[in-house]
Amino acid sequence: MDPFKEQLLHYGREMIARNLTTGTGGNLSIIARHADRIVITPSGIAYGAMTPSDMVVCDGAGRVIEGQRRPSSELGFHLALYRHRRDIGAVVHTHSVYATTLACLHLEIPPVHYLVGFAGRNVPLAPYATFGTPALAEAVTNALGDRNAVLMANHGLVTVGRDLAAAFNVAEEIELVARIYYQALAVGEPKILSAAQMDEVLKKFEDYSRP
Ligand code: 13P
Ligand code: ZN
Repeated sequence: MDPFKEQLLHYGREMIARNLTTGTGGNLSIIARHADRIVITPSGIAYGAMTPSDMVVCDGAGRVIEGQRRPSSELGFHLALYRHRRDIGAVVHTHSVYATTLACLHLEIPPVHYLVGFAGRNVPLAPYATFGTPALAEAVTNALGDRNAVLMANHGLVTVGRDLAAAFNVAEEIELVARIYYQALAVGEPKILSAAQMDEVLKKFEDYSRP
């Protein structure tokens, strides 16, 4: 699990460096399905102070197998997402400012820019529930469906991907789209792409960035 611990630390620090979260906010995990292990960031430790040995290894039921720290308080939605989506290998949660601003307005993100395609046809909104609760895990899982990103009302953003690099990339691109949507809303009435236009984008995305 050591390479996974290093990756979690690297992308945790990248979340801070790229202004996708602050302090101890947000969390990240990776699943090793063949071994029934999930490696997740510890709860309440700032990314700058974190070391690989602070990462927590759990099994699919959330039992701690290895590590001295408490697992992230959001272990519940990470586990629920891995159960719900057999195609994903990593989960990223941020408090990025523009995505969170929209989540505080209880807005979802429509296809206002083609980059929303990193998430799917839109980024849905999960209804509010207290952080770290089973109610939040259920709300996030139900709202995500087959997309790669979901806003959590009055809280932040959750993204998924085949690996941690992919889930992190979705978080970064969706934060950009959230910023563009917010700015467009502030000035006028954003023009939204049609279902047919998004069909074309999603089709092209299937082989985009494939060598
Ligand atoms: P943890 O430090 O427990 O991961 O919590 C941070 C957070 O963002 C809760 O939603
Ligand atoms: Zn959070």
